[in-house]
Amino acid sequence: MAAPSNRPLIERAAALLKPHKTADGRVFGDVAAAVVSETGRIFDGVCVDTASWGLCAERSAIAAMVTAGEYRIASVVAVWRDATTGKLHVLPPCGHCRQFMRDLDDANLATTIVLGSDMVRTLAELLPEHAWPAAIE
Ligand SMILES: [Zn+2]
Repeated sequence: MAAPSNRPLIERAAALLKPHKTADGRVFGDVAAAVVSETGRIFDGVCVDTASWGLCAERSAIAAMVTAGEYRIASVVAVWRDATTGKLHVLPPCGHCRQFMRDLDDANLATTIVLGSDMVRTLAELLPEHAWPAAIE
């Protein structure tokens, strides 16, 4: 039996894509994320990349989840559509987002990170050597 496809969650995130170009040439909303909490609720977010601060789509969606009082993430996906080719890409979370998810709750090390239609990894796999180290002496 084939593993369940990630396509429904990918398509949900893709539906959020609404790139908005600012006067200074920045683009908001060209990356979108969908986060499934441990209770099964889905939270959406888009990237907001300003000159003063950049917020990834994943952290935007996770902030909505935290606002709703949830901290454990079952799965997460982020997508971007190439405006030139029209093709949709699933993006791996950046290092900041990986650490953010881990810091939110240790249980998130088991979070399923969607990396493609049929490809996933756990956060722990994407964040090796995350444990506080033992003393060296
Ligand atoms: Zn990020």
